[in-house]
Amino acid sequence: MKLPKVVTIAGSDPSGGAGIQADLKVLTQFGVYGGAAVTALTRQTSAGVLGLFPLPAEWVLEQVRDVLWDLRPPVVKTGMLQQPGVIGGLGRLWGEYVREYGKTGAHVPYISPSAEPVPSAPVLVVDPVLSSGTGVSLLAGGGLEAFREDLLPVTTVLTPNVPEAEALTGIAIRDSDDMVGAAERLLQFGVQWVLLKGGHLPEWEGVRIADLLISREERRWLWGQRVPGADLHGTGCSLASALAACLALGLPVPEAAARAVEWLRQRIGSPLFVGQGRGVVCQKLERQRE
Ligand code: PLP
Repeated sequence: MKLPKVVTIAGSDPSGGAGIQADLKVLTQFGVYGGAAVTALTRQTSAGVLGLFPLPAEWVLEQVRDVLWDLRPPVVKTGMLQQPGVIGGLGRLWGEYVREYGKTGAHVPYISPSAEPVPSAPVLVVDPVLSSGTGVSLLAGGGLEAFREDLLPVTTVLTPNVPEAEALTGIAIRDSDDMVGAAERLLQFGVQWVLLKGGHLPEWEGVRIADLLISREERRWLWGQRVPGADLHGTGCSLASALAACLALGLPVPEAAARAVEWLRQRIGSPLFVGQGRGVVCQKLERQRE
């Protein structure tokens, strides 16, 4: 059986536009099986986050260990981790998982549609969630240090937006040169690839926006047109999940990133307005017209 798999480690958004709910919907659309370990519950509507209820860190980590050792996913994606204890603990657990995976490989071997081999080492996609788009903090004190010390050194692909990259590096980002500087600093923390999303920057070169994909060897700009007036929810979660899905399907990081960014840009052009607040991008309904 061909069974690409991703496990997401993230928070719950009951309005269904972000968090694990979004992640699982995106993975399904890409034809990838999704598991989900929950880090925290939120009270949340399409208009914003109303409350946060973190689960005990030890319990979160036990959940993660149970599901990783069972499913043996080749790709794991993290969203809102919220507590430094979860971030640090996951960094340490990841080292153990890499060794375990090396002994036995993926639990259910599969041949991906692109005929790429299953990754010989598992891949960790980290979306370093700091706050919601409406400004509610989703990361407790000490979280940035835990990211820098424990999780970034084992991260395969990091997907920060501009405020997240600024917070992690201390570098103010005003233009594309600053984006390169901050992304290179993130590589110095041990991250293998950085996909730095430029959407928060004021426009440059007319209406174009750009995301930057960078590793120690490569640098690529993913240019696109800005969609005017988009006020959306869950774009970061959806992009990181699309990227994780493409990696689980066997695409190398540059191709997976380009495909995920292209997918998100199309979705931003046709969001669903599901409630009283912002639109969502994680799901396309059969009846929806592009
Ligand atoms: N809720 C959860 C559980 C999340 O993980 C996130 C972002 O990662 C959000 C809410 C915020 O989403 P947005 O900033 O798109 O509103």
